[in-house]
Amino acid sequence: MKNAKTVLCMLFVMFFIFSVNAESVKNVIFLIGDGMGIPQITLSRVVNEGHLVMDTLKYSGLISTHSASNNITDSAAAGTALSTGYKTTNGMIAVTPDGKSVKTILELAKESGRKTGIVTTTTVTHATPACFTAHNAARGNEYEIAENQLLTGADVMLGGGFKRYAKILDKVSAKNYQLVKTRDELTNIKSGKVLGLFTESYMNYELDRTVDEPSIALMTRKALELLKNDNGFFLMVEGGRIDHAAHANDPVGTVYDTLAFDKAVNEALSFAKLNRDTLIVVTADHSTGGLALGKKKYEYFPEVLKGFQHTPDFIISLMKPDFSDAREIMEKYTGYKWDDKDVKTVMAEKDCKRPSYYSLGGQATYVFTKIINNKAMIDWTTSDHEGSMVAVMADGINANLFTGMLDNTDIPVKIAEAMGLKLK
Ligand SMILES: [Zn+2]
Repeated sequence: MKNAKTVLCMLFVMFFIFSVNAESVKNVIFLIGDGMGIPQITLSRVVNEGHLVMDTLKYSGLISTHSASNNITDSAAAGTALSTGYKTTNGMIAVTPDGKSVKTILELAKESGRKTGIVTTTTVTHATPACFTAHNAARGNEYEIAENQLLTGADVMLGGGFKRYAKILDKVSAKNYQLVKTRDELTNIKSGKVLGLFTESYMNYELDRTVDEPSIALMTRKALELLKNDNGFFLMVEGGRIDHAAHANDPVGTVYDTLAFDKAVNEALSFAKLNRDTLIVVTADHSTGGLALGKKKYEYFPEVLKGFQHTPDFIISLMKPDFSDAREIMEKYTGYKWDDKDVKTVMAEKDCKRPSYYSLGGQATYVFTKIINNKAMIDWTTSDHEGSMVAVMADGINANLFTGMLDNTDIPVKIAEAMGLKLK
């Protein structure tokens, strides 16, 4: 009888400890693959011999992505949902459809005494990072967004887009930012606020990255090193160009930028192993391109993509103006034996350079990319975004909040809850 009483008493104490004393987390690393739908993740995993670091996160769920204005969101409305918990009109940055600014999870974390940071492979003023660090009715106002970001004052901002800051460098130093423009300069920073702008506009795709550009994994590692402190931090990391490759229906850029993003997830996990007070959340803002794995006969051929050393667009740009070395260049940088027919199809576009937003090689890149998709037996429904649900994965303290069927607006609310804070 006495033993039974003791056991009951102990059970009660244990219940009390586990239920009432829910632990809030100190550090949050929120990683967003822009345009990284489930087909993008699947294809990248298969090309990478069946494994991804993000697969090892303990909890997962799905989130709906529609915006306040459209069944298919853009990155601004999706970023707003993921940063503020509010749906808004496509194109708007951390404001409601009527233009009212709403608090972002980064601003809330800062108020709580945590350090804050953003990392991206697009411009730091681009829609997704802007949604965490600025408020604007139009995503295109990147000069205003830059000014706004300096006021918000995140401790670390790393990515592309020097041209948006070029005219306000006095304000950058007035706000005590150390400006770095190369990988070595970034590596040499040991403490303090940092603005890293490694390219004029977007950073290059992972496969085409120059020696002076840090990888997304290196930027993430450095940001974690700079943000680590006793009060904790909030860091948002965006793999921003997965989306651009998918807009161009380029499976090569899509896969290798997703794998580069996965290495950033690995940096987050390595940090969390040594710093237990950490929550990692990985998701996408939407899926891009309507990527479908398979066109007929229950098969597709991801091995076609395995030997690529550059994106198709970059490979086209390496050819002589008359494309006379097309075969040599194609085989050297793709690791693939191309048929005469395919080489001729590419060569036929030598005079047909058509500059476009996502693709420097224009029509030649378009034709080459189409051949690659056909060989791999994969296809795309659109050169814009697509409306299906995307995955959310989480690990660390309070990661169990990120399971089941959720909406994108739930994510920052739950991140706040995990930190013991209230977003809205
Ligand atoms: Zn997009």
